Amino acid sequence: MAFDYDSENIFAKILRGEIPNRTVYENEHALAFEDIRPQAPVHVLVIPKGPYMSLDHFAQEASPEEQAGFFAAVGEVCRKVDVSHGFRAIANARLHGVQDVPHFHLHIIGGAQLGRMLPAD
Ligand code: AMP
Repeated sequence: MAFDYDSENIFAKILRGEIPNRTVYENEHALAFEDIRPQAPVHVLVIPKGPYMSLDHFAQEASPEEQAGFFAAVGEVCRKVDVSHGFRAIANARLHGVQDVPHFHLHIIGGAQLGRMLPAD
């Protein structure tokens, strides 16, 4: 599919410095910051600095350097916050994934026992 990035989304504004954020970690290719409505004691969002709207967009079109920088940031975030007992990483995409902000972001959620990801049958 063709990916159509909207540069007016709120995370693009954070990257441009137009909206403040509580930065946890930053490198050349990625920014990690606290989610404004945390769903657990640890709730950090890791985003690439490039204009990618979703995980599949990033995986298909980001350069190896951007992808390495992004995952290095994920590693640094997990080192900095308390996820020693585990965590969940979630990337919602588009309509079926109920993605609210159309700039790829990985939720790192932990710091407490979480429920099952989907209801068990
Ligand atoms: P998603 O539904 O996966 O697109 O999640 C978007 C996330 O962005 C939600 O968890 C929001 O709480 C979070 N969010 C929205 N605006 C901001 C903001 N200005 N700073 C930090 N997190 C935000």
